[in-house]
Amino acid sequence: MNLPIFHDVSLEALDARQPAFFRFRQLPMAPDKVVLSNLEGRWLVLDKADFQTFARGEVEEGSELFTKLRQRNFLRAYYDVPAAAEMIRARREFVGAGPNLHIMVITLRCNTTCVYCHASRANMDQVQTDMTKEIAEQSVDFILQSTNPAVTIEFQGGEPLVRFDLLQHVVEYAHEKNEVAQKELDFTLVTNLSLMDEKKLDWLIENRVQICTSIDGPQDVHDKQRKLPKASAHGEAIKWMKRIDERYREMGLDETLYHVEALVTTTRPILDRWKELVDLYVDLGCRALFLRPLDPFGWAEKTARLIEYPRAEYIEYYRNAVDYMIELNKQGVEILERYAAIFLTKILSGVDPNFLDIRQPSGAGIGQLAYSYDGTIFTCDEGRMLHESGDDTFAIGHVGTSKYRDVVGHETVRAVVVAGQLEGQADCVNCPYVPYCGIPPVHSHRIQGSLLGRMRESSLCQVHKGIQDYLFEKLATGDEETLQILEKWTTIRPRDHFVHVPAGAE
Ligand code: SF4
Ligand code: SF4
Repeated sequence: MNLPIFHDVSLEALDARQPAFFRFRQLPMAPDKVVLSNLEGRWLVLDKADFQTFARGEVEEGSELFTKLRQRNFLRAYYDVPAAAEMIRARREFVGAGPNLHIMVITLRCNTTCVYCHASRANMDQVQTDMTKEIAEQSVDFILQSTNPAVTIEFQGGEPLVRFDLLQHVVEYAHEKNEVAQKELDFTLVTNLSLMDEKKLDWLIENRVQICTSIDGPQDVHDKQRKLPKASAHGEAIKWMKRIDERYREMGLDETLYHVEALVTTTRPILDRWKELVDLYVDLGCRALFLRPLDPFGWAEKTARLIEYPRAEYIEYYRNAVDYMIELNKQGVEILERYAAIFLTKILSGVDPNFLDIRQPSGAGIGQLAYSYDGTIFTCDEGRMLHESGDDTFAIGHVGTSKYRDVVGHETVRAVVVAGQLEGQADCVNCPYVPYCGIPPVHSHRIQGSLLGRMRESSLCQVHKGIQDYLFEKLATGDEETLQILEKWTTIRPRDHFVHVPAGAE
């Protein structure tokens, strides 16, 4: 608990009879403001003096502050238990649904060499890292046993286009088997786009496979981090993004919703080039930018001295970039930041957008599963990445031999679910952001050797805390237009075109 705010109040003066349970934090960049949240995630940002009055239990009945506190369920005498329980239930609606996201690594081979490759890619001649047709079919059979009525099969790599024939087979086989399973299916291809051609694109468009790629910044930054022999990785990715978007337009799809999604992996050279990065995404017609920091998986550790950075510098980059995005929105440009949209949805609307890496419990094992080329099943893609570095902690079965029930009930899944519940963890237990936060235990395991992280030293906690500090600061001090823009970022628009509804349900 950050007690310095009480430096002028003795602890004996605090009266617990008026306030209901709350957590609080003084905003580092706006120290006269204090964020408080309660168990169910209702929140207020109070001026320091009002906060101290509240903590002392001296808020005058009938005052404006009293009314505000009562409306948000912060007063013990008026605490609305059913309303709190309902809100907690709404925030955890995803628990028990079963894995929706199924990541298939149909090959580890890749024609690109990224300095941070989280996947630990294999060279193009390492054909032993291709999934066999039999394992691919067993993976699909396993996936369709999920209790979740909606299933996404995401092709990851390596570079999935290296085995486009197998990708096609998986899609066709999944449709065939889905005649019995009757799931809502969708398919996502995560690709560097350099092996795309018109024939493959025709097939992907006809089969409604979503396409997602990476753009790490302007050409010089991107090509330095993502090396493609004899060509510019940036040039190839941009060429195909434009071409695919053109095809969507020709099909009459709403261009504000249907376009190639691109992700940035933030490396050191882009930190002070946030404006160029945002402008590039806007020029490409993207409506969203996900300012992801580097993850501690794969090769990122080996190349850290070239690409890593202190997370305080990342937060400065994040604040600059999002400030700029808000300004662009004020000028009529539609661009949102994904982290902000995820947190704001939880903060403002009280529901969880079910982003698997920022939820409690995290998605590992109960919201997602990953299937390696050899058929090994992992709790999550990061668990599969760790396996490539020699750590099998998150391996929980094999598609050829394991029963679905044994995999989702595996002791590792149980441990990860418990560890992903932040309310019981040191540091989180006192943090007002706990109703909105989430730290995948695989991350804590990787950087701290424990599923239960030590958040005070966690680089990911630092990122999440810094982003939420920024957002609450905006919510407390932003002008009306800024607040409207942030509210708009919480609007979720599903891409129904890519959903394959089971036959008979249409
Ligand atoms: S990050 Fe993806 S594109 Fe880059 S080397 Fe690794 S597998 Fe290939
Ligand atoms: S991970 Fe960090 S920011 Fe998130 S709830 Fe825990 S202490 Fe707060």
